Formats: sequence, structure tokens, C-alpha cells
Amino acid sequence: MSPADWDVIVLGAGPAGALAARQLAAQSLRVLLVEKQAFPRWKVCGSCLNGHALETLESAGLGGLVARLGGVKLERLRLALGGHQALLPLAVGRALSRRRLDQALVDEAVAVGAELLPRTEALVAGALGGVRSVQLKSASDLTMVTARVVLVATGLAERSFLSPSPISSHVNRGSRVGAGCVLESAPPSYGPGTIHMAVGRQGYVGVVRTETGQANLAAAFDRSLLKSCGGPSAAARQVLNEAGFEPLDAGGPWRATAALTRRSTYVAADRLLVLGDAAGYVEPFTGEGIGWALSSALAVVPLVLQGLSDWDPRIERDWAQSHATLIGRRQRLCHGLAFALRRPRISHALMLAASHLPILVTPALNHLNGSFQRQAIR
Ligand SMILES: Cc1cc2nc3c(=O)[nH]c(=O)nc-3n(C[C@H](O)[C@H](O)[C@H](O)COP(=O)(O)OP(=O)(O)OC[C@H]3O[C@@H](n4cnc5c(N)ncnc54)[C@H](O)[C@@H]3O)c2cc1C
Repeated sequence: MSPADWDVIVLGAGPAGALAARQLAAQSLRVLLVEKQAFPRWKVCGSCLNGHALETLESAGLGGLVARLGGVKLERLRLALGGHQALLPLAVGRALSRRRLDQALVDEAVAVGAELLPRTEALVAGALGGVRSVQLKSASDLTMVTARVVLVATGLAERSFLSPSPISSHVNRGSRVGAGCVLESAPPSYGPGTIHMAVGRQGYVGVVRTETGQANLAAAFDRSLLKSCGGPSAAARQVLNEAGFEPLDAGGPWRATAALTRRSTYVAADRLLVLGDAAGYVEPFTGEGIGWALSSALAVVPLVLQGLSDWDPRIERDWAQSHATLIGRRQRLCHGLAFALRRPRISHALMLAASHLPILVTPALNHLNGSFQRQAIR
């Protein structure tokens, strides 16, 4: 085997990459965490950590982190659709800005020895002689480095590989796009401790107050709505109005994401494992993405340790399988729910049930929001 510059290179310092880097650096491995942007950075996200995300942090020894950072307890979901509203209790959850959460996870990784390389785009290159190469590109430098194992946690990024790539992303036809912004103020009806979710025919908008007191808006829109409205600000106004929520002065600046619903053709290749959104994502209706990212970070660690010296193709199969078990099933459920809500009759019936018989809907909501497969993430 050729000598490697690093034991592990992790691409992307979102929740998946930062937590994986931390767990691996804590095992005294030489870990390089490469991030394209300067941190701290804001990102399009509803900023809600559900029970599963909080539980996964706890199992990594970071149980009190979100509360310490000021994460606001989420106690209610205020759901609006077609002029009907339902107020449903939430058993668990916190709202925390991604600026603060992601920076804290990176700090945790650096504290146990991971090296952070910010403002650098990393692209995966080939594998040869027991190492995989990665191209690092910053404003001033272009270099090639090697690692025994490379983790790709680049979220919905368009580009993470130098061609030819062993892994490609398949985007679903009709996939919605994400968009978001932060507002300094919002009407009192958008109070803290509540997820305010407006569902329209061509998208939905979630509003939550984070630890800063600001209102964080995150939305998924049909492309046709963005086109007919002329942009996310007007699209959000339309969805809020259609659902029956108070208007918001959501002038922006808005940021949009790439198409949301996608999956990777493979989630592993020689000395390469893909995790978090980079391995596949669905619409964010159930707000579980951070939990999925964190649990995939914990689940990937034993396979990395196994593959460091002697990479066996079985590791690739094992990762595909455990990823499908851990995340795939939940993603299908979330996708099914988001799809059902696009059907006016089903969404109307669900809304009537939620507003008149919350006792029936609340257990399902807490199941979606709460813990799952506890054993699998250990
Ligand atoms: C509208 C919307 C609302 C959402 N709301 C919620 C919610 O309320 N709760 C929830 O749990 N989830 C929510 N999600 C999902 C959640 O945001 C994601 O699932 C989560 O951020 C995934 O984490 P990640 O680490 O995989 O990727 P990211 O958090 O996207 O991190 C990837 C990182 O990689 C970096 N990167 C990209 N390419 C490169 C490269 N080539 N080299 C180096 N660095 C690179 C990026 O700059 C980024 O920092 C929402 C998503 C959307 C779109």
C-alpha cells in the first residue's frame, strides 16, 4: 500500500461530515474535514431538530449540546391547509439556527483532533494502491491529497467527484426545490416554541423562531409555482395565503437549493462511502434530514475502521444495506406523506382529522418526530 496523507478525508462539514469527523478523530485517526464555505454559515433548512436528531446526538455524547446553544423547545405544530388550522402537541424537538448548530459540531470535531480546511472545494478522484485521492481547490491552491478512506458528506451539492465518477445522483422528475430566508421580525402569531407549517397545492412553508428570536423560513416549492410567481418570496406569500396563515413580509434575501428528491446510484465504492443528503434525500416535509445525517455519521464509523487497512468490497455492500435500513425506509415514508399531501382529497381528509380529532393524529406525529430504530444507531 502507498503511504496516505490522511487516514480519513471527510468532504463537507454539515451535520453528517462534522459528526463523522469527530467520531473518527476521537479514535486517534488523522482526519481532514474539508468545507467549501467559510464557517459559520447559514443554510436553507427548517432548523428543527426532532427527537431522533436529539437522541442521536445524545448517543454520541453530545446530549446537552443543543440546549446549551440555546435551542428553543418545540411544543406545538400549527398546521394550516386550505383555510383550516390544527394545533398539535409535540412531545420533543428544538429549533436551533444552522449557523450555530453546524459551527458547534465542527468545533467538537476540531476539539478531538480533526483538522478543518475551510473555503476549499474537495473533489473525489481515483483509488489506487490502497489509497483514494482527493483534489483540494482553494482561492490560492490546487493540490491532490490521499487518504485510506474518503467520506462524501457534501449535501445536495451538484459536484463532488472528478470525472469519471463511480457515483452519480438521480433526481426525481417533478422534484420540488427548497428555499429559505431569515426574517428579523414576524407577527406575534408566529410565536416561539411552535412549528408554523402552511401547506399549499404547489408547496409548503415552515416558519420557526430560533435561538436568535429571528423567524427562519424554509420551503419546498414546485418549479412551476416559482416560475408563475416570479420567485420564492411571492411563492411563499401565495402558499401562506392559500393555507390561511397571516401574511409575512418575506422579502428575503432568499436562497434556493438544488432539486430535493434524489438518490445516489451507489452509496459506496472502493475506499469511498457517501452519507447524509449526498446519499439521497426526499422533500423535507417531516423535518428529519438532520437526524438522518447524524445517524448516518454514527453508522459509518465502524465500516471506516474496518476498511482503513484492508478494504473489502463487502464494506461497500454493508454500507448500502445499513443505509437502506437506517434511512431508506424513513425516506420512503416521508416521500409518501409529501406525495399524499399533493392530492387535494387526501390532504383535505388528513387536515380534517388533524383539526377535529387531534387525538388520532398526535401519536403518528410523535412517531414521525420521535425516536426510531434506537438500536440501529448504536
Ligand atoms: C427547505 C428545507 C427545510 C429543511 N428543514 C429541516 C428541518 O427542519 N429539520 C431537519 O432535520 N432537516 C431539515 N432539512 C434537511 C436538512 O437541512 C439536511 O438533511 C441536512 O442539512 C443534511 O446534512 P448533511 O451534512 O448531509 O449536508 P449539508 O448540511 O448540506 O452539509 C453539506 C456541506 O458540504 C459542503 N460542501 C458541498 N460540496 C462540497 C465540496 N465539494 N467540498 C467541500 N465541501 C462541500 C457544503 O458547503 C455544506 O456545508 C431541510 C431541508 C430543506 C431543503
